[in-house]
Amino acid sequence: MKRPFGQHFLFDPNILKKIIKCSGVTSDDTVVEIGPGLGTLTKFLSLSAKKVIAIEIDKRLIEKLEGILSPCSNVEIIQADALQFPYDSINEKFRVIANIPYYITTPILFRLLEFREKITSMTLLMQKEVAKRITASHKNKDYGVLSISAQLHTKPVLEFTVSRKAFLPPPKVDSAVVHFEVSQAPFFEIADEELFLEVVKTAFSQRRKTIANSLKTYTGIKDALQKAGLDPKLRPENLSMEDYVRLTEALKNISLSHQFIS
Ligand code: SAM
Repeated sequence: MKRPFGQHFLFDPNILKKIIKCSGVTSDDTVVEIGPGLGTLTKFLSLSAKKVIAIEIDKRLIEKLEGILSPCSNVEIIQADALQFPYDSINEKFRVIANIPYYITTPILFRLLEFREKITSMTLLMQKEVAKRITASHKNKDYGVLSISAQLHTKPVLEFTVSRKAFLPPPKVDSAVVHFEVSQAPFFEIADEELFLEVVKTAFSQRRKTIANSLKTYTGIKDALQKAGLDPKLRPENLSMEDYVRLTEALKNISLSHQFIS
C-alpha cells in the first residue's frame, strides 16, 4: 500500500511519555504538533499543555482525528501543510512537539527556525542519522551545514533513540528525539549571517579538501585564514563555529578594504 506523507505511527505509551517529559511542557504552554496522525501523541499533549494546535496535511485523517480527539477540548485541529503554515498567526509563544514526517525533516526544521522568535523549544522525533548531524560538534564526521545552521540559534540535544520496530508500519531507519532550546539572543555575534552561511556551505561542499582549497573562490582567503588564526591545511569539519565566525569576519573586512582601495 502506498503511504503518502511519511505516515509511521507511534503507539507505545512509554515512548510517548518520554517525549512529553523531555519536552519540558507545562500546563501554561501552548504546543504546536506537526502531523498528529491518529492522535496518540496529541492525547498526551492535551493532558500536559494549556492548548494544542495540531497541524495535519492529510484530509483523510482529519475526520478520524476529530472523532478520536473530541474529548480533548484544548486541542485545535488544523488541516494545513506544516511547510506553508503561518506560525506567526499564533498569538502566544509556543513549543513544538512532534513525530515529524521524515521526508521533510530538514525543510520543516528550517521553516520553524524562521519563526524562532515565537518558539520556546522544539522536541522532534526524526531519523537518527539526521539527529546525529544536527547535534554534531566539530571534529566529528557528522558535523556540517545542518549542525551549524541548527546550532546558530538553538542548543540541540539528542535525548534518546527509538527503534524502527516501535512504529506502525516500521520505517527503514531508526529514530531519535532531539530537544532544541531556542535562544532569542544569538549565541554568536555575526555581523553578516548570510555571508557566514554562504562560507559554511561553500566549505562543506568540498569537505575532503583543505579549508584554503574549498574556499579558494573567496578573494584573500589565505590572508583571512591567517587573520583568523587558522591553519589553511585544516579540513572544513575541523573548524568550530567560532572559527567560522572569525573567518567570515576576516573575509568581510578584506573584501571591504578591497572595495575601499579600488
Ligand atoms: N504523530 C503521529 C504519531 O506519532 O503516531 C504521526 C506521525 S507520522 C511520522 C507523520 C504525520 O505527519 C502523518 O500524520 C502525516 O500525515 C503528517 N504530515 C506529513 N506531511 C505533512 C505536512 N507537510 N504538514 C503537516 N502534516 C504532515
